[in-house]
Formats: sequence, C-alpha cells, structure tokens
Amino acid sequence: MTALDTADIRRQFPALSRKIYGHELIYLDNTATTQTPSPVIDAIRDGYLDSKANVHRGVHTLSQEATARQEATRELVARYLGADDSAEVIFTRGTTESINLVASSYGALMNEGDEIVLTVMEHHSNIVPWQLIAERRGLKIRVVGMDDRGVLDLDAFRSMLNERTRIVAVTHVSNVLGTVNPVAEMIAEAHKAGAAVLVDGAQAIAHTKVDVKALDADFYAFSSHKMYGPCGIGVLYGRRELLEKMPPYQGGGEMIKTVSFGGTVFADLPFKFEAGTPDFVGIAALAKAVEWLEATGVERIAAHEEQLLEYTTERMAEIEGMRIFGTAPGKSAIISFLIGNAHSYDTGLLLDKLGIAVRTGHHCAQPLMERLGVSGTVRASMAAYNTFEEADAFIGALRRIAPMLA
Ligand code: PMP
Repeated sequence: MTALDTADIRRQFPALSRKIYGHELIYLDNTATTQTPSPVIDAIRDGYLDSKANVHRGVHTLSQEATARQEATRELVARYLGADDSAEVIFTRGTTESINLVASSYGALMNEGDEIVLTVMEHHSNIVPWQLIAERRGLKIRVVGMDDRGVLDLDAFRSMLNERTRIVAVTHVSNVLGTVNPVAEMIAEAHKAGAAVLVDGAQAIAHTKVDVKALDADFYAFSSHKMYGPCGIGVLYGRRELLEKMPPYQGGGEMIKTVSFGGTVFADLPFKFEAGTPDFVGIAALAKAVEWLEATGVERIAAHEEQLLEYTTERMAEIEGMRIFGTAPGKSAIISFLIGNAHSYDTGLLLDKLGIAVRTGHHCAQPLMERLGVSGTVRASMAAYNTFEEADAFIGALRRIAPMLA
C-alpha cells in the first residue's frame, strides 16, 4: 500500500488554503465535518448551473438526467457499502434523520415492555430518537457501560440481551473517544437473541472500509458531510426484509403508488421512505465524494490517520497536565483532551488564535461526559489531508498555551 500524497490531496481542498489570524489554517475538527474536495464542489455548482430539474417527475431531458444521476448515486453507494440491492439504500438528510427514521418506523413494530439496547458512548442522535419512541410505546432502554479506556463492557452487553430485546443501536466509532466498537461481534450476539442492530456509522464511513453484508448489519446510518461530501444528505442502509415490514416514516409525494381519499398505496423500496423532493443536487455530488474516497483509498487514509494519531498522542502525553480521554486499542484518529482543569472553551479559543480549529464542549454526548466526570473536552480529529507538519504545529501550540492555562 503506497503512502498518501498529502500535498496532492491538499490541493484538492480549497478551504485548506485559508488563513486564520494570519496563520495557515490547521483544520482538526474533522469529526464535526470534513472539508470538501473540488470535484464535489464542482458537482454542486454544475447541478445548479445548467442541469437543475426535479427527479422522478418529468419526461423532459433535464429531469431524466437528474433522475439518472440520483439513481446512479444510489447504485454507487450500495456498491460502496457492499449491499447487493440498491433499494436498500435510502437517502435522508443525515445520520440523525436516518436514525429517527428507524426509531420511529421500526419502533412502530415494537410493543410495550420491548427493549432497546444503547451504549454510554452514543451521540445524542442515537439516544433521543429512541427515548421519543420509548416514551410513545412504553419501551425500555438499557445502556451498556464501558471501562476507563473507553472499551465497551461486552459481558454486560451479552447479559442485557433477552427475548424482549428488539434492537441494539450502537456507534461504530465513538465521536469523542475514537473507540472502534466490535460491531460485527455485537451484531452476531444480538442476532442470536433475535434482535436487530442499527449501527451509527457517522464516524466510521470516511475512516474505515464498511461492508454491511460482512458486518451483517440490519441498519447502517451515516452523513455525507463527514465523508468529504455535501451537507444535508445522509444515507440509511436497511435490510430489505425489515424495510418491507416497516411503515413509512413521512408521507407526501414520491413515496406513493396511488392516492385517493379512500386510502393510499405506498411506493416500493426505497421510495416508500423518501417523501418529498430530495436534495438531488447534493445526492449527485455525494457520488463525487464516494468516487474521491475510492480513488484515494479509504484503507490508505486509515493507515495515514493511524500514524498521525500515534505520533500526535505520544507527543501530547509529554505535556504537563495533559489528560487524554479514550485509550482503547485500535482507536480512530480522534483525540479528546483537557489541559489540567482548564475549560475546554479557553483551550479552543487560544488554539483558534493560532489558526488551529478544534471542537470544544460536550460533543452531543452528555451521558458520556457524565461517565468521564467532565462537562466537556477539547477534541482534535484527523482526516486524509492532515500532515505531520500540522501535528508538530498543534503540539507546539499546546506546549505554548499549556502554561497559560495551568
Ligand atoms: N452520530 C455520531 C457518532 C456523530 O458523530 C454525529 C455527528 N457529530 C451524528 C451521529 C449526527 O450526524 P448529523 O448531525 O450529520 O446527522
């Protein structure tokens, strides 16, 4: 496997040439959203420039072209995920909507007393939708804990599974700790107990090869904007036999075969779950992001990020007062930390003055913050375009600001 040519990659990301307070931007907030390469930006521009038309609606040329682009993207995403049926790929607005769709629609098939298993490291978008449906249908939520490294307690997980467990919803990669959860193993265990599994792939999709068939996942959710694609587009992969049984999530145009005041016949998959006009421009641009990832090689990106992670973590640990949260073996390139008792915002603001973009706060994971005993952390996260020079500059900045914050 050849190493990534980061100089070549960086040239494809216009935003990386920005200056912040006179410094070269060092963008380490990739967990929140990645920057966008030129082919994706061009596809968005072209989509509005001369080929805008609604999909699945018209006989005219522009509409036919728009429909073809959207359906080709569906095929591409299905192939990228290892799904053998593109009707199992549903376009949504993002991970959040994908999870809400499953919680609401699969949840409608659950009965009072049925159980949902979550983990302590879930993002709010993989907690709150389940709380909403649990409240409505009288369901019980159980939560798998973790150890101090950020490794899930699999014994506790196994002991929670029982004949009432209907679904396990677990993040593939923690957006705070970087832990890569053993989702294939968890799916196998859940299936033995007769439960379905939703994997929140928001933090995995751009950093590891995902194969929904190899994982045997029932649902896999992710957002385009975290994988070098446009904002406002997400994907829900769902196993056909489950999607067939689930009622529609929203009603409207596109999701019907026939409508009369006597009743409505719903469209077949995937359209049953795609009410209304989608962001067809964004969906077509997502294809460019998938092609970009395929051409760059997600395994090569992962290997590069792993080296950056190791290099950066080792040097950070040498800094007086540094507290790093999340030390699971094989973790992804997400580093949550605090300097002594300094507030995460203060650290983030000082880093920003030096041109370094990191995330601060609770990262939409308040139950995890409570488990860690902090109100928030600073989070630095890497992507394909980050370099060792940037890692050195980040370490240098931390060394400079640490004494000010101590
Ligand atoms: N799950 C995880 C693990 C995430 O990191 C995020 C985004 N921070 C989400 C879900 C929600 O993604 P979105 O806001 O794009 O719907």
